[in-house]
Amino acid sequence: MDQNSEEQNLTPNKNTAQERLDALTAASADVTYSLSADWKIMHPLDGRGFLLDANQPITNWKEKNVFLGDLKIVDEAIASAIKNKKMFELEHRVNRADGTIGWTYSRAVPILDKSGNIKEWYGIAKDISKRKEAEIALTESRKAIEDQQQIYETIISGTPDLMYVFDLNYRFTYANKALLNMWGKTWDNAIGKRLLDNGYEPWHAEMHEKEIDQVVATRKPIRGEVSFPHATLGKRIYDYIFTPVMGNDGKVIAVAGTTRDITEINNIKLKLQETSEELQTTNEELRSTVEEMAATNEELIASNEQLIRLNDQLLEARKKIEDTEIALRLAIEGADFGTWYINSVTREFITDGRLKELFGFYPDEELTIEQAIAQISEEYREMVSQKLENAIYNNGEYDVTYPVEGLHDGKLRWLRAIGNLKADSSGAFSAFTGVVMDVTEQKTDELRKNDFIAMVSHELKTPLTSLKGYIQIVLRKLLTMGDDSAIGALEKAFAQTVKMTGMINGFLTVSRLESGKISIEPTEFDLALLIREAEQETHTTINTHKVIFDPVNSTIINADHDKIGQVVHNLISNAVKYAPSNSTIRISCTNDESTAYVAIADDGIGISAPDLSKIFDRFYRVQDSKMSTVSGFGIGLYLCKEIIDRHGGKIWAQSEQGKGSIFSFSLPMNS
Ligand code: ADP
Repeated sequence: MDQNSEEQNLTPNKNTAQERLDALTAASADVTYSLSADWKIMHPLDGRGFLLDANQPITNWKEKNVFLGDLKIVDEAIASAIKNKKMFELEHRVNRADGTIGWTYSRAVPILDKSGNIKEWYGIAKDISKRKEAEIALTESRKAIEDQQQIYETIISGTPDLMYVFDLNYRFTYANKALLNMWGKTWDNAIGKRLLDNGYEPWHAEMHEKEIDQVVATRKPIRGEVSFPHATLGKRIYDYIFTPVMGNDGKVIAVAGTTRDITEINNIKLKLQETSEELQTTNEELRSTVEEMAATNEELIASNEQLIRLNDQLLEARKKIEDTEIALRLAIEGADFGTWYINSVTREFITDGRLKELFGFYPDEELTIEQAIAQISEEYREMVSQKLENAIYNNGEYDVTYPVEGLHDGKLRWLRAIGNLKADSSGAFSAFTGVVMDVTEQKTDELRKNDFIAMVSHELKTPLTSLKGYIQIVLRKLLTMGDDSAIGALEKAFAQTVKMTGMINGFLTVSRLESGKISIEPTEFDLALLIREAEQETHTTINTHKVIFDPVNSTIINADHDKIGQVVHNLISNAVKYAPSNSTIRISCTNDESTAYVAIADDGIGISAPDLSKIFDRFYRVQDSKMSTVSGFGIGLYLCKEIIDRHGGKIWAQSEQGKGSIFSFSLPMNS
């Protein structure tokens, strides 16, 4: 074989080996390196971004790559590998390509020649910086935890409080030094044992075991006090807390406890009490000395006596009030009234059992104003709550009757509520108190009567309408025939039917009102225009009296236009009815910031004081000889009052017998 052919044979093999190595190097994520037999020269290196690249063989690879602080262990490992011709293997720090310090796991194998001498080394250097960092962090945090535990252990063993942990089988899994001392036991012969085994009396052990059960079940801490004899200190009092220890799943895995000896604190408390009692006695002695001194002063005695007399009077007055109160309470109880109290500021609503019962609630149940109002039948609800608010905040009158459906019993009851507003002495708030009574029977009776009136009125309307029609037909015929006396008679008959229609309509309105069928439909309008409409109507229908309308400014209100019109109409009609012909009737409309006022003044017969308080009642008419000629049913003013009340307004009359009357009403503006 010539040299050439040997070359030819060798070259491909050599190339293949190099190629394989290069391929392996390229495929590996790690840094691959090769070194001379003595590790002095490192061949060209691809640092993979981890270590610095080297384009040609270098001798200063150690300075470049190995972290100075680890140089010694690297050298030792190299020496040992060379000496034993064994694999080099070491985790050490390196200078990374980016200048920071990292960790590598480096492994190199020796390539031996035929005679067994090292030719060179091939190795890989793996980047293990991340794992190493994690390991270091873990070690550090373990150490921190151990330190922390050491601190806790020091605290727990140093505290005079008893600290301990039970497992769910009531066994102690931990007891601090103070507790072991108290038991007179060591850790080994106390831990893993139950209360009974650690010398607790049966009642005591049972009590704590029950408490452990409770903490486990409720997952809430409990606190208690117990007294029992201590090994060396005698009888002691202990305050203890058991707390649940939760596992990751939120279940209780153990119960931790702390017990504090409060015997001393208790003793101090008792002593303090004694001291304060002593102080009190001293105080009393002092006071009697002062009294003795005062007794020597004549003037003081005299004024004192006066004071005492005054006090006696006060006491007597108070007793009278109390007696009245007792009588009142007895009356309320006897009459089976429900009572309530509302604080105007906090709207606190205090009611008695009977009131709750009337609203169908249980006597011990909570009841708020809103809940009570919710039980009121729908047609009445708005009206009642308006009256209530008006009573609480404007001192409006409160006497309302309304149907209620009991919450639990579903029973329909008619209730009459009467209330009274009283400011407290400081003026900070008002108390709105009153009674509620069950008027169901009376009311159903009334409603029946009402239905009857409605039915009769309705039935009367139809024949009356046809009667009116016939009269008009005949009247028209007679007019063409010119029979004056017959015309006169028929005109009177017609006027009577018109009057009758008005009365029947009045009754129908009352019955609708009573059964809650009339509702207020508010719109925004100018009261001045309404008064002007009344003025026009008055001038065409009334020629018996001088009706004067004072000038009115524009007054915008939110109210039921037709119903307010009806009120004005009724009041003017009454003035005409109850004042002599040719007298003056004066209508005025004024307002302040929040309220509009309308007044109708006449020079009529007037009203006596006792009647004045009743004229707004339903069916009330003054019994007077002058009145006998005036027809009416006593429902006009009642209607007016209902309408104004439902607007949150007020209506009133000022009058004296023989001196005319002024009827006024007010309406809230901008509401
Ligand atoms: P009616 O006029 O139909 O009797 P009202 O309810 O309108 O019923 O009035 C009730 C009572 O009040 C009247 O019966 C009358 O005695 C008295 N009254 C009403 N308006 C006046 C008035 N302007 N002057 C004097 N008395 C009046």
